[in-house]
Amino acid sequence: MLNVPSQSFPAPRSQQRVASGGRSKVPLKQGRSLMDWIRLTKSGKDLTGLKGRLIEVTEEELKKHNKKDDCWICIRGFVYNVSPYMEYHPGGEDELMRAAGSDGTELFDQVHRWVNYESMLKECLVGRMAIKPAVLKGMLPKSQVTDTLAKEGPSYPSYDWFQTNSLVTIAIYTKQKDINLDSIIVDHQDDSFRAETIIKDFLYLIHIGLSHEVQEDFSVRVVESVGKIEIVLKKKENTSWDFLGHPLENHNSLIPRKDAEDTYMKNSYIRKNINQRRETFIFTFSPNVVGLYYRKCQLISKENVTHDTRLFCLMLPPSTHLQVPIGQHVYLKLPITGTEIVKPYTPVSGSLLSEFKEPVLPNNKYIYFLIKIYHTGLFTPELDRLQIGDFVSVSSPEGNFKISKFQELEDLFLLAAGTGFTPMVKILNYALTDIPSLRKVKLMFFNKTEDDIIWRSQLEKLAFKDKRLDVEFVLSAPVSEWNGKQGHISPALLSEFLKRNLDKSKVLVCICGPVPFTEQGVRLLQDLNFSKNEIHSFTA
Ligand code: FAD
Ligand code: NAP
Repeated sequence: MLNVPSQSFPAPRSQQRVASGGRSKVPLKQGRSLMDWIRLTKSGKDLTGLKGRLIEVTEEELKKHNKKDDCWICIRGFVYNVSPYMEYHPGGEDELMRAAGSDGTELFDQVHRWVNYESMLKECLVGRMAIKPAVLKGMLPKSQVTDTLAKEGPSYPSYDWFQTNSLVTIAIYTKQKDINLDSIIVDHQDDSFRAETIIKDFLYLIHIGLSHEVQEDFSVRVVESVGKIEIVLKKKENTSWDFLGHPLENHNSLIPRKDAEDTYMKNSYIRKNINQRRETFIFTFSPNVVGLYYRKCQLISKENVTHDTRLFCLMLPPSTHLQVPIGQHVYLKLPITGTEIVKPYTPVSGSLLSEFKEPVLPNNKYIYFLIKIYHTGLFTPELDRLQIGDFVSVSSPEGNFKISKFQELEDLFLLAAGTGFTPMVKILNYALTDIPSLRKVKLMFFNKTEDDIIWRSQLEKLAFKDKRLDVEFVLSAPVSEWNGKQGHISPALLSEFLKRNLDKSKVLVCICGPVPFTEQGVRLLQDLNFSKNEIHSFTA
């Protein structure tokens, strides 16, 4: 059973306060935790008041249910009676009431697109909207997909396909130069072929039911100079295909990315252009952010890193191409007592120096995570119980860190607390190997005790090997023999640590840890005259 402390919930520093987009969570009454909600949904109680019936809901009907004790909300075309959930909602009743009696899809996507509401609220399902939900507007009529779809305007993505006896190549023309292998995610599962291309603040989605069978593995190539991506599929039978397949949901759509929603809303130029051309071009523009896509990955290894933190290695399915960009996170999803729970995690490299670990597995099929197990937590104990060979679902990446921040960078400062170290791993690897302008990297790593320091000896070896790197450990609860720095993030610690190499050097400070740590750190950095552009804080 979850050991739920009785007073303030969530505890001031609990993970439960880690809210998406830095939202504050409200204190919930005792007995109203996520686990309590799961128990209620399993109790057999009629939570909709409809005795198990599902109904078609008209807009007029939906509008009537707009009170706290009778509150219906539509999310992606499905209507839920959320009144029984009110007291369990970490964001509070008022946040739910903002969508009372209406379509809450947009609001939901802004705040927590990753929350698996279908599973969490399945006992609250009233039925479907009688009118088709907005997300389906962008769907093309079910027809054959042919190469005619490729005939689009000069500045919009498009695709084409061609074949040989044994291969089918799908070519995506992004019309952007800064495309690389991180920019494309391909999944081929059962009958569905999906290719998501990240083009600036948008996702361009190809989603097709292929007309013929193909083999599991495929290759992906990027021609950076012209922004072309080629996905080469191997036919199962060497026959000629008359057409590629039929379009599935949101096929050939340009979709704003969640992290870019603000930019999208402000960017009237793009919207205007897309709106003007929407009728002319065959691709569709979906105003809704689609839910994150998950694929099942297999647990390959699990290794203790500290007394409570483990290095998990997951293998992607052979029919997936996915590389998580530096500074981005994914969501892991597991069923917990019948309800699907998701939590965000930041992939790391297998080690700080590849020579520390032999043999090195190929980067593109394995994803590593450093995850702290909270014995009284909801998700991590379940994750820790997985056996080698078990599966866990992994979402597509999310996050607003841009690698362009490293251009011409001279001084890089990293402030990490606890597992807030995770985004720093790939940043360190990348900065020390790929940024020629870099003069100095300084990591200040805050932990409770020496035993909590993740990869301490690797960090020390790396700093020894590369003189540009300095590492400073700060402990909040050290033993009396500790002769290093102690305490919490403070003006004194930061002003001494954050010395620019040169007066005007180009600098970036990255900060990640418990939300209050990060928020305080950002305030201190601003007090020390670092500009917004010079600070990147990692949040959900
Ligand atoms: P939770 O159930 O959230 O509990 C965590 C702690 O809060 C426990 O100590 C628990 O006892 C306490 N608690 C729970 N309920 C209560 C209550 N009612 N009252 C008081 N205390 C309570 N973590 C990593 O380890 N590695 C990563 O790479 C990583 N990346 C992340 C990336 C992002 C963008 C974000 C936002 C978070 C990341 N995290 C990462 C944190 C991770 O998402 C989870 O929050 C963490 O694993 C805890 O999940 P849990 O369900 O096991 O614990
Ligand atoms: P922890 O061990 O509890 O804390 C690490 C250090 O930070 C300790 O020295 C701790 O001091 C200090 N600290 C905690 N809260 C503080 C505060 N309010 N002000 C100043 N110092 C504070 O950390 P953890 O359990 O590993 O948790 C790591 C956090 O990072 C989680 O909240 C996780 O969600 C977050 N995270 C975020 C991302 C992201 O990308 N957004 C990625 C990874 C992790 P005390 O001894 O006083 O507690």
